[in-house]
Amino acid sequence: MWIDSHCHLNHSNFEGLPPSEIAEQAFSNGVDGMVTICCRISEELPQLLNIAKAHDKIWCSVGTHPHDAGHENERAISEEELVRLATSDEKIVGIGESGLDYFYDYAPRDQQQESFRKHIRACIKTGLPLIVHTRDAEEDTIQIMREEGEGKGLRGVMHCFSSQNWLADAAMEMGFYISLSGIVTFKKSIELQELAKRLPADRILVETDAPFLAPAPHRGKMNRPEYVARTGEFVAQLRGEEPQDFAAQTTQNFFKLFDKAAE
Ligand SMILES: [Zn+2]
Ligand SMILES: [Zn+2]
Repeated sequence: MWIDSHCHLNHSNFEGLPPSEIAEQAFSNGVDGMVTICCRISEELPQLLNIAKAHDKIWCSVGTHPHDAGHENERAISEEELVRLATSDEKIVGIGESGLDYFYDYAPRDQQQESFRKHIRACIKTGLPLIVHTRDAEEDTIQIMREEGEGKGLRGVMHCFSSQNWLADAAMEMGFYISLSGIVTFKKSIELQELAKRLPADRILVETDAPFLAPAPHRGKMNRPEYVARTGEFVAQLRGEEPQDFAAQTTQNFFKLFDKAAE
């Protein structure tokens, strides 16, 4: 049984399917739990909480995606407010996704950085894990993580890891987990596959980021939480491990990091 540590069940790209149906399909196809991740607090949080409350094994996060970091309603959410929201419900198990996306640059970089710092501080105050989204921003990502978090008990995961491998090592040095998505199954992801082979077993998570980024052989189609098994089986084979052992290990890792989900 697999845990999809990162998906977006409320997203409209699921061909109009309601979140409950997507989740049910996943539960009938080898998925034991999933976290539906927040991108825009001001619009999504009540909806995500409803989805999470409908099932024992669905949890959610609270946070502002770097794409949305310039949005005025998101900028208006103070660090104190973020802390209050993050601790307002037992179903909220992490803070994010937050970080830096210099590939799309949908929000000005200074506002992305300001938002990222706010999320890190909220994690330190609450003890909740940080869900980091980073793309084409290795240097600034680790610099901000170190400036705000070093030696302060910051915990978290580099979600949908696709950066240069040195960033994975630098993040693991801070105690972070590395989450692998369907990207690792793509033929061209040679560097990422090298990383997947050598990651310490107790630092790996798996995810789909559904409805985005379906793994091979479903690439280009709508992604679904149950496809986390495709990615997991692929990585297990790369590492020369049995899929069920790798599933058990990544599930154990998940509950260690997202310990509020284990309660
Ligand atoms: Zn992301
Ligand atoms: Zn995401």
